Amino acid sequence: MLADPNVQEILIDVTKDDENSIPIIQCLLNGKTTDEEIAEETEIRLNIVRRILYKLYDAGVASYKRSKDPETQWYTYSWKFEEDKIAEIISDKVEKFSQELHQSLEYEEDNMFFVCPNGCRYNFEEASERNFICPDCNTNMEFQDNSSIIMELKELQERMS
Ligand SMILES: [Zn+2]
Repeated sequence: MLADPNVQEILIDVTKDDENSIPIIQCLLNGKTTDEEIAEETEIRLNIVRRILYKLYDAGVASYKRSKDPETQWYTYSWKFEEDKIAEIISDKVEKFSQELHQSLEYEEDNMFFVCPNGCRYNFEEASERNFICPDCNTNMEFQDNSSIIMELKELQERMS
């Protein structure tokens, strides 16, 4: 699962650490459960390991159990990676993207567009308010046939369903 670039992207987005996150999670998946074991195994500094684990915890991607060592009276935290939560985050993302796609498609279908030679793009209302002169470049804007954009969006939508 960690080999999936989408999963890696999500995890790095959570931890904001593209260098240490994946080795730490890999180590967790390999069965090391405490921050100290992970730090030792990965040779990543303990405070970095802890920071990443708590960030994952904060996002619901990791959980921990606290237990007291009967001899030393110290608490040990044993960590667990929550794979189900990753699946949930991915499906939320897909859902959000498909909504955005639907909105873009509607917008393209409901509007006419005008472009300047430099590629600035305005819808009919915006362009007519400016007498079809690009406010950014001061050049004439021309009608743009957006049927190829609509087709691409539709294809994308089909591939996702
Ligand atoms: Zn322009």
